[in-house]
Amino acid sequence: MEATQVIKVNNSVYVINMDSLIVKHFTIDEFRKISRNDSLLQELISTINGPSYLQRLKPVNDYYSSEKAIVLPSLLLSYECNYTCTYCYQKRQKENSQRITADQITGVKEFYSEYSRITGHEVEFKAVHVSGGEPFLPENKETIEKIAEVFYNKTLIFATNGTFINDYRDILSHHCHVKLWVSIDGAKEVHYLKRVPSLNSHYDDMMSGVKWAVSEGIDISIMCVFDPDYADSYSLFFDEIENLGWLRNKGINLVFLPLTSGAGCDTIESEYLDNAIAAFIKLRTTDGRAGCVDARQLMPGAIPLMKAIKRANDGLFDPYRCECLVKPSYSFTPGGLVYLCSAFEDELGCIGRYWPEVEIDLSRINLYSMRRIENMEACNNCVKKVFCNCGCAATAVDRTHDIHGIHCSIWANPTFLQHLEHFTFNDFA
Ligand code: SF4
Ligand code: SF4
Ligand code: SF4
Repeated sequence: MEATQVIKVNNSVYVINMDSLIVKHFTIDEFRKISRNDSLLQELISTINGPSYLQRLKPVNDYYSSEKAIVLPSLLLSYECNYTCTYCYQKRQKENSQRITADQITGVKEFYSEYSRITGHEVEFKAVHVSGGEPFLPENKETIEKIAEVFYNKTLIFATNGTFINDYRDILSHHCHVKLWVSIDGAKEVHYLKRVPSLNSHYDDMMSGVKWAVSEGIDISIMCVFDPDYADSYSLFFDEIENLGWLRNKGINLVFLPLTSGAGCDTIESEYLDNAIAAFIKLRTTDGRAGCVDARQLMPGAIPLMKAIKRANDGLFDPYRCECLVKPSYSFTPGGLVYLCSAFEDELGCIGRYWPEVEIDLSRINLYSMRRIENMEACNNCVKKVFCNCGCAATAVDRTHDIHGIHCSIWANPTFLQHLEHFTFNDFA
């Protein structure tokens, strides 16, 4: 793969050397003149050549200051759910009937007190993320009441399928700040294609709950797993959520997500990715509202590339694929175990316990913090490192059973770079 990439967006052209992270910006006309003249083109390529950004730039060192870590812990209440989605990434845990109970919630705070004691870093909670299975199952009510009590002054973010929002109105309307991430895959018929409900009324219950939440001013992100085979149906879905206030109400956001097929976020199949991007681009030409959807996650690498270019302007690069390798925003699971992030399925992702006793495996935490690009010899000379940054640890550990294992997964797709122009630079243009 060439280190030099040309990305066109609207009337601009960005020419980037992926290894040096030097970028030049032109108008279409300017670039057209250059590209027709071999010597100008060679001159341009030589101006963006340079030492690898690993040598040219300095690593970012601000994940947390020496004193304080601002964290967003994730509480996974149970693996039980009222849906049986065909693509649910928790299938392997469905037999696990353990759940986090109300009296275990204080264990989360105790875990962080112990973490502060042994590392010397004070921990401040930015927000608390609550998920499942389905967190709003009736059985979780006491636990959620306890979460709202223990974290009374913190934002609570619930990742839910929405069926039981109405049963939690009391807690949701009284808590200081709540956000809902509601998974809806389209209008009812399309939603039910891969999401199999235990009752046919779940979709309507969810819509009624979302409507109530909007009326309460609660921020809603609609998380939709994009299906390229049904791209034509999204206009109907847009109509439906416009009725809820989407496009008028800034508190309602529609996000298209890629379909993943295993542990971690690097498990997108190449064929799906190519089809999804082609279908999304077509949808954007047939229904302008698609341009208001946050679809950046459909294109792996788009967000990391944007960040990398912004940081390179400040003389910096990011040595880590994600914050969880270095920041203690851990995932607290049923049964008392703490994982680096909720996407891990391999036991090697476990870094301690919060219940019945607090235990912290500092040596494993330190091993993960060594998973930085400069230390991964196999990745140092790879021009995809700017996107991939040694890969998602949850995916790599699942495939290699090694904390420092490498698994190139989606980045090995030869076509993925061709799609970048449609996503990456919209924020700059
Ligand atoms: S709603 Fe979520 S947790 Fe429940 S089966 Fe579907 S993907 Fe899995
Ligand atoms: S390990 Fe990092 S990149 Fe992978 S799923 Fe977790 S947060 Fe995302
Ligand atoms: S994991 Fe593979 S694609 Fe990613 S940086 Fe390393 S060698 Fe490159």
